[in-house]
Amino acid sequence: MQTYPQSPVMGQMMSQPLSVSSIIRFAARHYGSSEIVSRRIEPDLPALHRYTYRDCEARARRLAQALQDRGVAMGERVGTLAWNGYRHLELYYGVSGSGAVLHTINPRLHPEQIAYIVNHAEDQYLFFDLTFLPLVEGIAAHCPTVKGFVLMSDRAHMPATTRIANLLCYEELIEAADGAYTWPDFDENAAASLCYTSGTTGNPKGALYSHRSTVLHAYASAMPNVLNVSAIDTVLPVVPMFHVNAWGLPYSGLLSGAKIVFPGAALDGKSLYELFEEEGVTFSAGVPTVWLGLINYALQNGLQFSTFRRTVIGGSACPPAMMDTLIDKFDVQVIHGWGMTEMSPLGTTGGLLAKHRNLPREEQRKILQKQGHAIYGVDMKIVDDDGVELPWDGHSFGHLLVKGPWIVASYFRDEGGDVLQDGWFPTGDVATIDPDGFMQITDRSKDVIKSGGEWIGSIDLENIAVSHPAVLQAACIGVAHPKWDERPLLLVVRRPGAEVTREELLGFFEGKIAKFWMPDDVVFVDSLPIGGTGKIQKNKLREQYRAHRLPGV
Ligand code: ADP
Repeated sequence: MQTYPQSPVMGQMMSQPLSVSSIIRFAARHYGSSEIVSRRIEPDLPALHRYTYRDCEARARRLAQALQDRGVAMGERVGTLAWNGYRHLELYYGVSGSGAVLHTINPRLHPEQIAYIVNHAEDQYLFFDLTFLPLVEGIAAHCPTVKGFVLMSDRAHMPATTRIANLLCYEELIEAADGAYTWPDFDENAAASLCYTSGTTGNPKGALYSHRSTVLHAYASAMPNVLNVSAIDTVLPVVPMFHVNAWGLPYSGLLSGAKIVFPGAALDGKSLYELFEEEGVTFSAGVPTVWLGLINYALQNGLQFSTFRRTVIGGSACPPAMMDTLIDKFDVQVIHGWGMTEMSPLGTTGGLLAKHRNLPREEQRKILQKQGHAIYGVDMKIVDDDGVELPWDGHSFGHLLVKGPWIVASYFRDEGGDVLQDGWFPTGDVATIDPDGFMQITDRSKDVIKSGGEWIGSIDLENIAVSHPAVLQAACIGVAHPKWDERPLLLVVRRPGAEVTREELLGFFEGKIAKFWMPDDVVFVDSLPIGGTGKIQKNKLREQYRAHRLPGV
């Protein structure tokens, strides 16, 4: 870790480590009665569980004590395979607060990949929701470091399985602890949590967040320019707690005093809509594919939201058509967010400047559609293939590099070796930055379509396609071409009952893009492959359409 010169005159403020436990301590003491509502996983219990920050802190402390009693030491990893819910939140605070490392695992990954991650992290305990019992039964024998598998439920729901040795019950662990535990203090640079990247190529790599990085990220992300979370909000994170800490909402929500609503396993449009309405959700966050379900449900049933007013959409580009629907049809403000696992994850958020206040609606919308402004703490730049910095003119596009106190310096166990370039982290994204500092992602480096030495941005083409009324989803990939290297192929899922032909769709692009960006072909499909983090898997599509013959070839 880098060290810095000391001044002969040091500041004289109290020194207090920035720790994850400081958030729950603060939350319970100063917003103790704020509510946490969770959709339960156990099908036979009342649908919603409800308690307060104060209750959560007390149980998180008992959990920390139980881990201590079982000999989980500082720095040791504790895995979770769980939905967004109150027990998962207790693990967020109980594990990290005790000095151990919370290792959230994406249950949508392939079981072999999950076992690989558990072993790579050397998880000591693995906590899991009832839903994932079959998954854990399948991998338990292949995870030798795990001393106990803890089912996140009560005694009544413990299964009679013989396939998991050392199966423990969450509620029994909590009950066995007497609660006489105080949160320990330690260096703020200690590891707090671990999240593996989805690893579309090669094995997943771990981003190891520190207490300091977690608190700074949470602090910064609550700011008005970012998520603008406050005590008057009811926050429903649709983004999973198993991937990049639900964009920090389990921390930023609690330090803001907001009411928290967890959707559990029910992420379909109907279940989400009902929970939004019943609990008075004002603010939410998720990837575009999730909003697709919710918006379609509301549109098909002629429904409006009575309290929902703001949402952050990120993880992949928010199609302008989706932003328009949310703003114009539902009066929901859309904040476009960009980031990645390696960035805790937030790097930029969209929004307007004072000087944009009187711009026409269409002009404002163009600004909001960009991935937005760097959040204080994050710096960014774009460079060409030789690493030379490119101008912030809104046109030049290049590799996007970032730095900041919540961005990885290296991966867990130094997997992948040196990742930084002169102290900057290469994001793998290609972007422009305009003179006002608004960043816009053109593409992921690996998704860019390279045609005759020029780059074609697939996101722009997809955004245009989904603005056609008959198109539900679209993905654009590069397909080999003998003359141009690659040419764009557009894959389209039509809206149920809607009709549109290849020619009509290509005609729709006329005048909207440079001629050489025009997709060479359109293929209509029933669905697109969606990965574990809710994104369209373009690598799979590239594989599948590798041999696709473009017209005229
Ligand atoms: P993975 O997709 O491997 O799970 P992450 O969840 O960390 O990895 O995703 C990070 C990537 O997602 C970014 O590098 C970027 O390519 C893409 N991404 C995230 N937010 C946006 C956005 N708002 N617009 C476009 N791309 C985005």
